[in-house]
Amino acid sequence: MKFCPNCGSPLEEGAVTCAKCGEPLSVQAAPVPYADPADHTGEFEAADISDNKVVAMLPYLMGVVGLIIALLARSDSPYAKFHIRQYLKICVCEAIIAICSAVLCWTFLVPIAGGICVIILLVVRVICFFQICKGQAKEPAIVSKLGFLK
Ligand SMILES: [Zn+2]
Repeated sequence: MKFCPNCGSPLEEGAVTCAKCGEPLSVQAAPVPYADPADHTGEFEAADISDNKVVAMLPYLMGVVGLIIALLARSDSPYAKFHIRQYLKICVCEAIIAICSAVLCWTFLVPIAGGICVIILLVVRVICFFQICKGQAKEPAIVSKLGFLK
């Protein structure tokens, strides 16, 4: 049940004006489709995505080896490049965590936190992998904040 913004009396479903005070009721705007700023799927051509899905998966599956293969095989594909960049961002995160944990290993807490972060990044990698399966191009939420690799 909706109520008139002017007089507060209950409104009938689909009413254009309030029956009591005549206040014109703004027709509810069609919901704007939620645009995810990290979702870049629309920026890539469907053919590019379908052709280079497998290449985009390689770094996630095979690590650095897959990364090199992907770079050699499809460095001209924007879709493959996008996922290579996401993979590199995750690698940078892992490297930072590894360095912090190594330097601060005597603190006990930092290596534990680092271990948890590595597990989170592993989950992110799995999520990325399944996104490629679905032909999407989304920046993982955690690493999308890292603008320096764009
Ligand atoms: Zn009213």
